[in-house]
Amino acid sequence: MAERDGSSTAPSDVDAVVVGAGFSGLYLLHRLRMLGFTTRVIDSAGDVGGTWYWNRYPGARCDIPTTDYAYSFDPELERAWTWSEKYATQPEILSYLRFVADRYDLRRDISFSTKVTSAAWDESVARWLVRTDLGEEISCRFYVMASGCLSLPKSPEIAGHDRFRGEVYFTSTWPHEGVDFTGKRVAVIGTGSSGIQSIPLIAAQADQLTVFQRTANFSIPARNGPPSPERLDALETDRAAYRDEAKLSRAGVPTEVTEIAGAWATDEVRRERFEAAWEAGELIGILGVFNDLLLNETSNEVVAEMIREKIRAIVADPETAEALCPRDHPFGSKRPCLDTNYFQTYNLPHVRLVDLRKQPIFSITESGIETTDESLEFDAIVYATGFDAMTGPVVAVDIRGRDGVSLREKWADGPSTYLGLTTVGFPNFFTITGPGSPSVLSNMAVSIEQHVDWVAGCLDDLRARGFQTIEPTPVAEAGWNQHVDDGASITLYPTANSWYMGANVPGKPRFFLPYVAGVDVYRATCDEVVARDYLGFSLSGPVGSQCNDGVIRRLQVDVAMLIRTLEELDLPPMESLPVEDARALMQAIESVRPPGRAVGEVVDGVLPGAAGELAYRLYRPATAGPHPVVAYFHGGGWVLGSLDSDDPFCRDLCISSDSVVVSVNYRHAPEARFPAAADDAFAAVQWIAAHPAELRGIPDQLAVAGWSAGANLAAVACWLARDAGGPDIVGQLLLTPVTDGSMGTTSYQENALGYVLTAPLMQWFWDHYADQADRGDPKASPLRGDLSNLPPALIVTAEFDPLRDEGRAYAEALSAAGVPVHHLEGRGQIHTSLTMTDVIPSSADLRAQMGDALRDFFRAAVPA
Ligand SMILES: Cc1cc2nc3c(=O)[nH]c(=O)nc-3n(C[C@H](O)[C@H](O)[C@H](O)COP(=O)(O)OP(=O)(O)OC[C@H]3O[C@@H](n4cnc5c(N)ncnc54)[C@H](O)[C@@H]3O)c2cc1C
Repeated sequence: MAERDGSSTAPSDVDAVVVGAGFSGLYLLHRLRMLGFTTRVIDSAGDVGGTWYWNRYPGARCDIPTTDYAYSFDPELERAWTWSEKYATQPEILSYLRFVADRYDLRRDISFSTKVTSAAWDESVARWLVRTDLGEEISCRFYVMASGCLSLPKSPEIAGHDRFRGEVYFTSTWPHEGVDFTGKRVAVIGTGSSGIQSIPLIAAQADQLTVFQRTANFSIPARNGPPSPERLDALETDRAAYRDEAKLSRAGVPTEVTEIAGAWATDEVRRERFEAAWEAGELIGILGVFNDLLLNETSNEVVAEMIREKIRAIVADPETAEALCPRDHPFGSKRPCLDTNYFQTYNLPHVRLVDLRKQPIFSITESGIETTDESLEFDAIVYATGFDAMTGPVVAVDIRGRDGVSLREKWADGPSTYLGLTTVGFPNFFTITGPGSPSVLSNMAVSIEQHVDWVAGCLDDLRARGFQTIEPTPVAEAGWNQHVDDGASITLYPTANSWYMGANVPGKPRFFLPYVAGVDVYRATCDEVVARDYLGFSLSGPVGSQCNDGVIRRLQVDVAMLIRTLEELDLPPMESLPVEDARALMQAIESVRPPGRAVGEVVDGVLPGAAGELAYRLYRPATAGPHPVVAYFHGGGWVLGSLDSDDPFCRDLCISSDSVVVSVNYRHAPEARFPAAADDAFAAVQWIAAHPAELRGIPDQLAVAGWSAGANLAAVACWLARDAGGPDIVGQLLLTPVTDGSMGTTSYQENALGYVLTAPLMQWFWDHYADQADRGDPKASPLRGDLSNLPPALIVTAEFDPLRDEGRAYAEALSAAGVPVHHLEGRGQIHTSLTMTDVIPSSADLRAQMGDALRDFFRAAVPA
């Protein structure tokens, strides 16, 4: 082991300084060295290993299978090492990292027992000056924090913690010689992963063990043993393919991806899938048991309750069992644990649980712990109190960028990064697995390799092209922050007080730190940034400078996933099919979609259209009636669509607006061309307005709504009602409406292809619906008509929609005509995503606002 000594002969002028000699720093050193960059790695630890150097507590193991929690960059290295267990112990992982350091002769460029205290960017020479606690100053072109996500232990924050005279241990800095608890009275404070791993082993030695729990955590049995034969087989059969699968997976481990949503699955399917995941003992497996586990509260509660059932079945004392049942956060919103006999430990007579929610610690005393209820004596206290995660180790160093700006100050309200790799104002500065990257939500071995490869590739590119500096642009960074935040906000993660949220550290801003979309999506994003010539970065050097500014991801995470799924299905373009086949395809897509929310009542009926009967479906709220009424027209380009196609959206609208929604199936083209659908829509509105009693609606409380071509019909119905002198319509909700047949807008060009509703499909719809000569008629293109004296409107458009600009134009034209109008635009949304209840959570807020708008229309229409 290398020891701390101040007389370093290491160079003080290098290409790169890397802080940390764990998984990240070791691989980065190897990569940079192979590329010919002079590099110094600095670590406060006495040897390599990082996490696995420091965390030597009993029971410390990885929670990702060791077949997967390892480097993959060198197949020879893989063949040279054999893991002995499914989840290797800390000593084995540390041996592995030492083996790696030896194999690639890494130690000669690493300074151990040395802490980096500050780093400052010197603009005049475009270099960083790094200082250590040994007083050394190192000048470097590139400065990389490979300092770990979980490497800064959190201080105990318990009154009197420095008074205790007995033995004190922290799981995160465990003594190298080990600890013998035989015959001792031991307290463990904290029941996160380290507590859950160590408690059974401490209990096996101690005379008495008292566990102090603030938050009960979810844990599943690890079922440790030899490495999984399936994973080993797959690896040995085709190592490269297995590693590629990991890189293209969601969490960095090849795992079956389910299409089953827990919210809609039968009890039998739920139980079967849960039990299989419980038996398999893999975190990524149980977190992927349903595709909506971290999106949908119902689905999450199904799994959470099944885990609580297991806890109750294991723990004999019902009161202890109940205290061990997690209730204050959704399953997975905090990192769940893998354990070996954790819950069973509480059945031992000398083990006791103190629930700090009922009996908080008042103070640590010289001889033990005083709670609000009792005073307990101990020989040893073990703190398993976690880390100041992700940002903590980075801002612990005084890092000063351009103009002396402090990173600690820049991130005071939360981290701001581009790709979790770089940050504005700090040229040539990189964070490995930084905030805004998948990091702790993934198998970190895979995420680390990807980050290191990206950074090494970037440095190589800069050098090859004669650039000296790289720095993200404010536009790119703001866009990435928005994207990371958008992704988190559709999940259940932000609802928990977790270290993912910074909530475990008093005063730390509440901010979801990792990126949720998955390592596959993230890798593709980083690769695309490079492929688009370092989009969002400024590069400069003696050869000049370049700035290819822009935002790399503008679609919402769930919308992008929907598009990818549809692309993978490789369906024929609708417009290439005969109409009947297109309708059948649409029905097939609808049949695999969630059924929508339960409403009070659904009634199918018929009403008179302009030329014969029209089917309708009425949705009544569960609340006491009578209710206002919404006449609704489905989307589908006048050609496709049915009462079924918009059924989930109508249910949603019924609940959010607390109105009766009458969805009307008008005549479709090409069988019935323009103006059949418009005439039917108006006839339906007239009939609905005339029959409030039959519908159990409130008289004179009628609004119209529609989506896409249905919004076109709703708009036209308002126009026809105005000209016919009635019926009175109190408001119009137009969702991504067709308002103009010219198809000449910028949004048609920008979003012509790739966002589900394409320009060629719209062309096909128009061709089926209306002759060219009719398309300028306001009954087909309401934007061309007189818009005065129309009902107040809510217009909702989607950013990536060919129809976006005509929706915007309609809102502007209504407003110019004196009609009260509110316009909402779905950022990162596409034409079809706004109606997709239970599939696209990122549009849920817009759907709620549509319901609110309808309520407002009705409220405003009630005579004072
Ligand atoms: C108990 C435990 C179990 C884990 N199990 C898993 C698992 O199963 N799977 C998984 O994917 N991840 C796991 N993790 C996360 C784990 O941290 C990463 O997998 C990985 O080890 C991180 O490697 P790293 O090199 O990025 O950081 P680290 O291993 O944390 O190394 C960072 C190093 O930087 C040094 N350092 C930091 N600041 C300074 C400074 N200013 N000056 C000098 N040196 C500094 C530290 O001393 C440390 O040695 C676990 C973490 C813990 C704590």
